[in-house]
Amino acid sequence: MPLLSSTRMLQQARSGKYAVAAFNVHTLEMLQGVTEAAIETQSPLILQSTVGTVNHLGPEYIVAAATVAANQTGLPIALHLDHCTDFNLIVRCIRAGYTSVMIDASMHPFEENVRQTAKVMEVAEAAGVNVEAELGKVGGVEDDIIVDELDALLADPDECVKFMDLTGVHTLAPAIGTAHGIYKGTPNIDFARIASIAERVAAPLVLHGGSGIPAEQVKLAVSLGMAKMNIATELRIAFSDEIKAVFANKPSENDPRTYMVPAKQAVKQLAMDKMQLCGCVGKAIDMR
Ligand SMILES: [Zn+2]
Repeated sequence: MPLLSSTRMLQQARSGKYAVAAFNVHTLEMLQGVTEAAIETQSPLILQSTVGTVNHLGPEYIVAAATVAANQTGLPIALHLDHCTDFNLIVRCIRAGYTSVMIDASMHPFEENVRQTAKVMEVAEAAGVNVEAELGKVGGVEDDIIVDELDALLADPDECVKFMDLTGVHTLAPAIGTAHGIYKGTPNIDFARIASIAERVAAPLVLHGGSGIPAEQVKLAVSLGMAKMNIATELRIAFSDEIKAVFANKPSENDPRTYMVPAKQAVKQLAMDKMQLCGCVGKAIDMR
C-alpha cells in the first residue's frame, strides 16, 4: 500500500472512539521500531517528523523510508510534518510525498491563524494531503518553538467552531492543558473543555504533548474525541537511554549495528504500549 493521507484514518478513529498513535522519529532505526510495533499489533500508524528532523535528514530520505514501511507492511501508514510554521517548507514536504502536514500558526492572532491555515488547505487539498492546525497554545518546547507555561492558552470552543467553518481544516489540535516534553507533575488537562469542543467539532481532534500523560487520562481524552495522540519526547528518551546503557557497559563499542539494536527494541516496545493505550491495536484492517 502507498502512504495514505491520515484524514480517513483519523475520521474512522474518531467515530470508533480510539486514537491513532503518531510517533516523531529521527532515525531509520526509530522509524523501523515503530513500524515493527504496528506490524505486531496490526495498528494504523502515523510517522511524524518535526521541522528539525526534516532539516537534519531531508524530506526525500524520510519519505523514501516511510514509503518502504507502507509498501512492505501493507498497513495504513501516513507521513506527517509536525508543527511547521513555514509555508514554503510545507509545500516542499508535500512535493516530496508527505501525506499530512501541520500548519502551526497558533502563535498569531486568530485571523492570521485562519489565513495561514486556509492558504495551506488550498495547496494540500489539491494534493490529497491531510492538514492539521492548532488553536490556543500548547506549552513546552517542540524543536525551536518554545511556549512558556504562563503563555500557554487553552482553546475556546466557540473559536474552534468558527475556525473549522472558516478553514475547513481536516484535523484540529486544540490546546487543552497538555504540554510538550516530560511533565514535572501531573498534567492539568481540561477534560470538560475537550468534551465541549468535541460536541461541536466533528473533525478528529489531536492530542499534543502525549509523552507521560497517565494512562487513565489518555483513555478519557480519547473517549471524549481525541483521535490522534502525538508521542515525541518519551520515544527519543527510550531510544537514547538504551544507547547510553550500551556505552556505559562497554565504552569501546563502535558498531551501530550492535548499539542500535536495544534502542530500536525499546522504541518498538514503547510504541506497542502506546498503541494499546490509544485503543488502535487491531484497527489496521478497518482501513482496507
Ligand atoms: Zn505538538
